[in-house]
Amino acid sequence: MRRIVVATGNRGKLAELSRLLAPTGIELCAQSDMGIEPPEETGLTFIENALLKARHASAGTGMPALADDSGLAVDALGGAPGIYSARYAGEHADDAANNRKLLESLAGVEPDARTARYHCALVLLRHPADPLPLVCSASWEGRILGEPRGMGGFGYDPLFLVPSLGLTAAELDPVLKNQLSHRGRALQMLLAALEGGC
Ligand code: IMP
Repeated sequence: MRRIVVATGNRGKLAELSRLLAPTGIELCAQSDMGIEPPEETGLTFIENALLKARHASAGTGMPALADDSGLAVDALGGAPGIYSARYAGEHADDAANNRKLLESLAGVEPDARTARYHCALVLLRHPADPLPLVCSASWEGRILGEPRGMGGFGYDPLFLVPSLGLTAAELDPVLKNQLSHRGRALQMLLAALEGGC
């Protein structure tokens, strides 16, 4: 594989992936630069959503395609917001609205019962009908605070406490976040698989 289309229009994601995959010599391009609109995310799992995004990008370009899907699962909420993390407070909700809704949903829940984890699924399809996609997934354990802390990261990071460090994901140096996070670790697995000549 020399070129892979990434099922995203997000420049940050593309840059992060390009940096990580640089040693493999694989060139990445964004589906948005090739006229591909994102599909509706109708799956019921992170893996299904990553797979349908990758298949859509591969079918539209004829190239190998890479997609990710991620979100936050909170135990006291039965795993919500889960695959709906980006739109927890509504279809076009922003991070602030999603965080507000999360805090409201957890009102009165004791600190020890506020356990949660981020999940990330990455899927690589060599062609649209690839019968054995490469799937890499990872999780990151934490706890949801009662109020936000920190200015870094995005999404739910100001509420996501990493218990072993006593810091929220929004208080972590970005390099350290990438080493520990669900997405960073799934990407490391993908890199290892690609270097192994998958
Ligand atoms: P995706 O872009 O469809 O994978 O949606 C992921 C959503 O899950 C984001 O919009 C965030 O709300 C949440 N999320 C996933 N990963 C992270 C993270 O590393 N930090 C904070 N929020 C995250």
